[in-house]
Amino acid sequence: MLGLMMAEPLRVATIIEHAAKWHATTEIVSRRPEGGIHRYTYAEANRRSKQLAQALLKLGVANGDRVGTLAWNTHRHFELYFGVAGIGAVCHTINPRLFPEQLVYIINHAEDRLLFFDLTFLPLVERLAPVCPTVEKWVLLAGPEHLPARSEMPGLCSYEDLLSAETTGYEWPSFDENTACSLCYTSGTTDQPKGVLYSHRSTVLHALGISLPDSLGCSALDVIMPVVPMFHVNAWGLPYAAPLAGAKLVLPGAGMDSASLYELMENEGVTFSAGVPTIWLALLQFMREGQRRFRTLRRTVVGGSSCPPALMKAFVDELSVTITHAWGMTETSPLGTAGRLKANQLELPASEKASVLAKQGRAVFGVDMKIVGDDGQELPHDGEAFGDLLVRGPWVVREYFRSPTPGELTADGWFRTGDVATIDPDGFMQITDRSKDVIKSGGEWISSIDLENLAVAHPAVAEAAVIGVPSAKWSERPLLLVVRRPGLDVSAEEMLAFFRGKVAKFWEPDAVEFVDALPHTATGKLLKTQLRKDFAGYSVA
Ligand code: AMP
Repeated sequence: MLGLMMAEPLRVATIIEHAAKWHATTEIVSRRPEGGIHRYTYAEANRRSKQLAQALLKLGVANGDRVGTLAWNTHRHFELYFGVAGIGAVCHTINPRLFPEQLVYIINHAEDRLLFFDLTFLPLVERLAPVCPTVEKWVLLAGPEHLPARSEMPGLCSYEDLLSAETTGYEWPSFDENTACSLCYTSGTTDQPKGVLYSHRSTVLHALGISLPDSLGCSALDVIMPVVPMFHVNAWGLPYAAPLAGAKLVLPGAGMDSASLYELMENEGVTFSAGVPTIWLALLQFMREGQRRFRTLRRTVVGGSSCPPALMKAFVDELSVTITHAWGMTETSPLGTAGRLKANQLELPASEKASVLAKQGRAVFGVDMKIVGDDGQELPHDGEAFGDLLVRGPWVVREYFRSPTPGELTADGWFRTGDVATIDPDGFMQITDRSKDVIKSGGEWISSIDLENLAVAHPAVAEAAVIGVPSAKWSERPLLLVVRRPGLDVSAEEMLAFFRGKVAKFWEPDAVEFVDALPHTATGKLLKTQLRKDFAGYSVA
């Protein structure tokens, strides 16, 4: 027997519609990449998203078509989230920090029909346009006064021109909640980037999940500033959760430096923020230097890489700001776990509480998880046994977008995260290692194998390995280990210079060490676990 409740499909447009109706005057404040602060309300954001929707329909954008974005956290990017998805098209957020070849691959693989970009990225898109034939129209996210005088880019126009031709009288259509709404590519593994195609259903459920008090927790009393970019797993869902809760939303644009973030936080009364450890490490330094204090900031969520316990302690002790440590992946929308204490842990001594909170946290409803050994058998939750972390739930990927290779699912439907973890008796998960060997710097992947492949292209290099070593600023930075060819010489400076222009700047190794030999496994693979042990105390300048 079926229930007798309304079968209203979950759609992201209902979130902005809700905010426009019930939090009509609540503000969205954003730093424009072309300069100045923009300020408007949820009611106006909904109207402009509808204008965008009509413009897209006029341009022939149909259900399932991909619309790319190369954009910072701004009000226009926010409108794209709703305007594109609202008509059943797919908002494909692209990470502009990727190397141009990866960008070309991603845009062509997704077959983006339109591409919306911030003024900052004009030089980049001018290089991309000739090699991205599926893009029929390039739209500058600014007014017409910022358009270049001359350009070869097909259909180049300004976003504001596009919107001003439309009326606001449009009703969001209804459709199947399993319709795709956004697309985000994972990057940095040895393979090509893989697309994770979120649905309206998964996105709305995830937004509800992250709003719960023990996960990220979003309230109409909050002023939320996502510092995590909107091109990185939809800014962890906050552009959906803020309007869902009716919270004021503050979008920092391209101003990701500490001074700009601090200025916006203070001026707009930000209470809650979120970002990767690198952002908070830099901000802590900035706060210390000027002996500054936050007027309103009370909480922040840190994830994407392991949050250093010293950072959590400094934020609480010096700035009265609590850090929630969260874990997730592009494949998990991203929230999987969040580190909030349980009732039985409140009376623990401070040091024990700190070690609980330093873990990646416990499962949020909607994501089930388990750890398994090499034999696939589930391991105990004793905080000691570690194994492959598997997850499942309505906002976890089933298969990758247009991927020839099968997904990462086990036969019984769990997603293999590639992380190795423990789970303690209270359910707190802790990442002990990652089974992949990629390096994560400032929240962004660096592929060690890509770097190794490049290094061995140098005539004097016999073999090379790249491992991540701890960095106070970036969490991790690549260290290159080189075995020279007998009789040939190459200096550290020459070796590092060899990478310049061949990979993204932030991928370039920070240091190189010459070794006589590299350790290997029985099957001839590099034994990175050994290398990481050997260079455990290594620090890059
Ligand atoms: P991405 O899909 O780029 O967000 O990367 C996901 C991966 O980042 C995970 O599989 C983890 O290896 C890592 N990660 C994310 N959050 C954390 C965290 N809080 N602590 C340690 N590693 C993390």
